[in-house]
Amino acid sequence: MSEGTHTVTAGPPDPARTEAVIFKAGCPECRGRFELAADALRLAIGATHRTTFYSFTCPRCQAAVRKPAGERIVELLTGGGVSTLRLHSTVRGGSAARA
Ligand SMILES: [Zn+2]
Repeated sequence: MSEGTHTVTAGPPDPARTEAVIFKAGCPECRGRFELAADALRLAIGATHRTTFYSFTCPRCQAAVRKPAGERIVELLTGGGVSTLRLHSTVRGGSAARA
């Protein structure tokens, strides 16, 4: 992934050049909106869109928030280093309609 040329002069060196990807997420419980790092989020990819979601623990009220993840969100999250759990590894038989 190329972001072009950064002309950053004498800055403090990053200890671990991790791309600080920040995801914005809202909590339906306390209505808070947060900026979460990749390691605060979990992504679960199911067999269908309905079982594909991301989750995080609200930093304010500790609620376990789960939200559906569309294709774009999945791309964003996986590209941002969010740990991904694939739920459909045992899909076999049935109507495997892959779009
Ligand atoms: Zn909350």
